[in-house]
Amino acid sequence: MTTIAFIGLGHMGGPMAANLVKAGHEVVGFDLSPTSCDQARADGTTVVGSALDSVRNADVAITMLPAGAHVLSVWTDILPQVKPGTLIIDCSTIDVDSARKAHAMAREQNLPSLDAPVSGGVGGAKGATLTFMAGGSNEAFARAQPILSQMGKRVVHCGEAGAGQAAKICNNMILGISMIGVAEAFVLAEKLGLSHQALFDVASTASGQCWSLTSYCPVPGPVPTSPANNNYQPGFAAALMLKDLKLAQNAALDSGAVTPLGAEAAQLYALFNGEGHGGEDFSAIINFLRGRAEVR
Ligand code: NAD
Repeated sequence: MTTIAFIGLGHMGGPMAANLVKAGHEVVGFDLSPTSCDQARADGTTVVGSALDSVRNADVAITMLPAGAHVLSVWTDILPQVKPGTLIIDCSTIDVDSARKAHAMAREQNLPSLDAPVSGGVGGAKGATLTFMAGGSNEAFARAQPILSQMGKRVVHCGEAGAGQAAKICNNMILGISMIGVAEAFVLAEKLGLSHQALFDVASTASGQCWSLTSYCPVPGPVPTSPANNNYQPGFAAALMLKDLKLAQNAALDSGAVTPLGAEAAQLYALFNGEGHGGEDFSAIINFLRGRAEVR
C-alpha cells in the first residue's frame, strides 16, 4: 500500500482517485470544490482541507487540474513541504512549457517528477482504461508505472520532461483534424444521396479508415456507442478539444512547426464553442458543418 496525495478531484481526478482506493492505496485528496470533495469522500478518499495537508505523509503526489497555471501554483506550494523522495506526477493536460517549468521546480527540490497526461476521457477514468503518455526520467517512470497502470490500460514512456504533454497535443491535433474530415465526408455524402451506412461500410475498411470514423462515428447508426447516438452528450466535450487545439497551436508557434490544418481545426472549434456548443461532444461539429449547429 502506498500513500497517495491526489489534488484535483473533478470529472477525471475523482474517478482516478477512486480507482487508486480500489487498488488498496491510502488516498488523501484535496479539491477547491465542495461537490468534488463530497463525491471523492463517498468513493473512499480521505479528504483534507488543503493541498499541503494532502501531501504531508505522501509517497506519491498526483495533480489533475485545469491548466498550467493551476499546476505551477499547486506545485509551488507543495514541493517544499513533501517528504524527501516523494514522486510528483501531473496528469493534467497543460502546455509543454509549463510542464517543463514544473519538472525544473521538482529538480530544484531533488524530487523525481513525471508529466503524465491521459487520453480516454471520463469513461476511461471511471473504467481504469486510460492511456497515459509520460515524460520524465527512467527512474521516475519506473516508480510511477505500477500506479498509473491501476488507473489505465496503457502507460507509454514518451521521453524526457514534457514529452508526455507533447504526445498528448500531437495526438489530439490529429483527432480534431480527423473528426472534421470525417464529418465533412458525411455532409458531402448526404448532399450526394449516399447513405451514412454505405459510406461507413466502405470507408471503415478502406483508406479513409480512422478512429474518428470507426470508434466515434459523428452520425447516429453505424457505431452504436458513439455520442451521435446519444444526442451528442460528451464523451469528449468540444470545449476540451478547443483547449487542446490551442495548446497545439501555441506549441507550433513556439517551435516553428507548420500546422495549417491544426490551425484551421482550432478556428472551427473556436467558432463552434463561440456559438455556445462547448458542452456538446466534439463530434457534434458535424451539425455546424451542415450549417445548423443546434442538436436535433
Ligand atoms: P474538472 O474541471 O472537472 O476538474 C478540475 C478540478 O480541479 C476541479 O474540481 C477544480 O475544483 C479543481 N481545482 C482547480 N484548482 C485547484 C486548486 N488550486 N487546488 C485544488 N483543486 C483545484 O476538469 P477535468 O475534466 O477533470 O479535467 C482535468 C484535466 O484533465 C484537464 O487538464 C483536462 O484538460 C484533462 N483531461 C480531461 C478529459 C475529459 O474528458 N474531461 C480528458 C483528458 C484530459
